[in-house]
Amino acid sequence: MRKSSSEAKTTPSRLRCAIYTRKSTEEGLEQDFNTLDAQREAAEAFIQSQRREGWIVLPERYDDGGFTGANMERPALQKLLAAIEAGKIDCVVVYKVDRLSRSLLDFTSILSQFDKRNVSFVAVTQQFNTSTSLGRLTLNILLSFAQFERELIGERTRDKMSAARKKGKWVGGCPVLGYDVATGGGRLVVNEQEAEQVRAIFALFEQTGSLRETMVEIQRRGWRLKSWTCKTGEFHTGGTFTLSALRRLLSNILYTGAVRHQGKVYSGEHSAILEPNQWERVQSLLPQSIQPRGGMRNKHQALLQGLLHCECCAAPMVYSYAAKGGRKYPYYVCRQAQKNGWATCPSKSLPAQAIEGSVLGRIREGMNQTTLWEEMDRRRQREAIEAVVERVGYNGTTRQISIRFRTSEAAMAGQEVRA
Ligand SMILES: [Zn+2]
Repeated sequence: MRKSSSEAKTTPSRLRCAIYTRKSTEEGLEQDFNTLDAQREAAEAFIQSQRREGWIVLPERYDDGGFTGANMERPALQKLLAAIEAGKIDCVVVYKVDRLSRSLLDFTSILSQFDKRNVSFVAVTQQFNTSTSLGRLTLNILLSFAQFERELIGERTRDKMSAARKKGKWVGGCPVLGYDVATGGGRLVVNEQEAEQVRAIFALFEQTGSLRETMVEIQRRGWRLKSWTCKTGEFHTGGTFTLSALRRLLSNILYTGAVRHQGKVYSGEHSAILEPNQWERVQSLLPQSIQPRGGMRNKHQALLQGLLHCECCAAPMVYSYAAKGGRKYPYYVCRQAQKNGWATCPSKSLPAQAIEGSVLGRIREGMNQTTLWEEMDRRRQREAIEAVVERVGYNGTTRQISIRFRTSEAAMAGQEVRA
């Protein structure tokens, strides 16, 4: 790490900064910093603000336009890494961490390449400053989840899956009411009888505007959730409708003929069940959320309560434990799976000790004053993590963990990390 304060007496040595920018083709135009130029401008402004410390912008551009951050096959990134190997760069500046990589594993591997060459890394809009305990914490949390993910991933199926989704293919999981899996699999076909029910449910909700009234009417008619036979020949009976199941049905974009993948919508291979615009109308009628957000009670002071989410169900993963022979086995369980049955969720649960141990161990290891962290009680540790992490997602299908860090536009000065 460069210590700006203690070395301030001497003339600072030059810190040659390379700016890396990236934008993938599918990234929406609604993003604030959607152009490579805008990303570069923000980075240049940041470097400019550090010029007294000797920071200078290198003229070479490292711009990957139209490349995904999911892998490292990007020409400008490779050029950047080569320049680093050649000793031409002291610091890499990006607008946001995810410009460098969207994969935790790639990110940590890139950072270790930086480290080998004493190259520092700065994300201008995020808390990435190893000279502060918050910055160290951010980095250590990131590394700990990467480690945990490495343990979870058996084989890397996620890129394949992501590619299939982007082509609008249905990539498996439990079919929903209204669709069957085509014989041979891999594709959804409309189940006309169920599709009628789905249309009726949407219409009922539009009429009443109430989830509860709609649910009561569904139950009166004796309609149930999807029953299906899976590949192994096992038959799953559809359960009765709950409020959350109804909400999920009403907000499922599949019915418009589209698929959603990592928050983005792609047009699907399957047919729509609803008439155009009906789905949008219903979304505007749906109440914001059944569960209170953030402020959930947390009597166990579980480290990741309120942060950890099941990506498959878009549901929070909540802390729970099983007791056996006088011992407690804590775990985080998908709330949706808890309510509607384990078969409905690929993530199901995660052992709390493994994930927390991985996070805490890494934090302890990375902190200079380990006692400081040890002395914090659970509540303070939680607060420290919450200060930097906004959301942790777990996808049980790909066994992938994703972390969203809080963005701090206000803390744009003096952010540096050498990892
Ligand atoms: Zn789930």
